Amino acid sequence: MQVNDLLEPNVRIRELKKDRVNFVLENVDISFANSLRRVMMADIPTVAIDMVEFDTNTTVLPDEFIAHRLGMIPLVSTNCDEAIRYSRDCTCLESCQNCSIELILNVACHESRTMDITSNHLDVVVRGGFGWREEVDDGEEIARRSENFGHPVGKNDPSVQPVLICKIRKGQELRVRCIAKKGIAKEHAKWSPCSAVSFEYDPHNRLRHTTYWYETDIKKEWPLSANAAEEEAPLDDEPFDYNAKPQKFYFEVETDGSLGPQEVVMKGLTELQTKLANLVLGLKTDPPELDTLGGDAATQLPPANGTLPAQAAPRATGWGQEASPAGWGGAAGTPGSSAGGGGGGAGGGWGTSPTGGGTAWGGSSGSGASPPAGGWGTNTAAPAGAWGAAGSGWGTGSPPRNNTGWSSPNPQTQSGWNV
Ligand SMILES: [Zn+2]
Repeated sequence: MQVNDLLEPNVRIRELKKDRVNFVLENVDISFANSLRRVMMADIPTVAIDMVEFDTNTTVLPDEFIAHRLGMIPLVSTNCDEAIRYSRDCTCLESCQNCSIELILNVACHESRTMDITSNHLDVVVRGGFGWREEVDDGEEIARRSENFGHPVGKNDPSVQPVLICKIRKGQELRVRCIAKKGIAKEHAKWSPCSAVSFEYDPHNRLRHTTYWYETDIKKEWPLSANAAEEEAPLDDEPFDYNAKPQKFYFEVETDGSLGPQEVVMKGLTELQTKLANLVLGLKTDPPELDTLGGDAATQLPPANGTLPAQAAPRATGWGQEASPAGWGGAAGTPGSSAGGGGGGAGGGWGTSPTGGGTAWGGSSGSGASPPAGGWGTNTAAPAGAWGAAGSGWGTGSPPRNNTGWSSPNPQTQSGWNV
């Protein structure tokens, strides 16, 4: 049960469906597993209706009630990072095609029956239809949208039941204009791409993190979960190992359809990586401003993630690296060696680098351009894996580099801590 520090993190997908994924995450700390869970729930951007203008509402429900229901309808948000910008980052005053999706709902009942108004009645206004009130040039985001971006999930798909908004009878009418915007669930739960994210660990309760209440027979009253088959049952008289730590986490991620489960997990890892990188940068004392220095000065600066020669000045290194020239990842790497590559190699790191060929979700790694691509794959055989294996992982002795690994997080302009 002891975590072996030399083992690489590993993911084994047990079930992957259109709206859910079940996987086993191994060889990570419980805090990492929980961070991933929380990031997937609360930090991945999607689009959701954020503003509603009522033209006519003669239904039995008040405007606020309907506006709230409209906000909760999941909208297709594939590639939301690139396909739409946050309104706060947009040049427009209120909303435009670059930062918003416009939808209209126009339903009236003319028959003597009860009629359902559902998410299938919501229509995205195509460009030039309704028209924005402001004239703003098209941003690069527009070209990156899928055809059904911003449409209600499951629209025109008979196998998906639409979301009921309101019921009306003869003579009643609902006519509204909705503006959907990009956001994250930390601000409002309507932006969460997940309907449920959970993980279980230690199904036999070997670690005694859980105290079961029972009347007579604990085993009968608390049947084991299905995950118990993955681990060996402890013997009745087995001594308690108080140093043991959980190392296998059984994840179940279910989405509301706005994003696929694969995108949720991959984006969750990217987001977590960015947050941690921001934290490291924020903890640095007196970070040098490369832009403000002359060319010579800039080239003399040590690399940001601690590949300093031992005699170099300690400024600009990360946290507590006085003792070791290597960065966080451990002492195993040789400074300057690029074999492990750390997060630096294309396809290394956490496998979420857009340039990495080895992201390897659900398949073998190394399928891309970079042969030693380990990444967040299901295959642990790759030689230069992610995360802290000897000679690899974050920031062990790799050369200065840009855009990957710890040293230079992606420019964080849109979400996370610093905005
Ligand atoms: Zn805008």
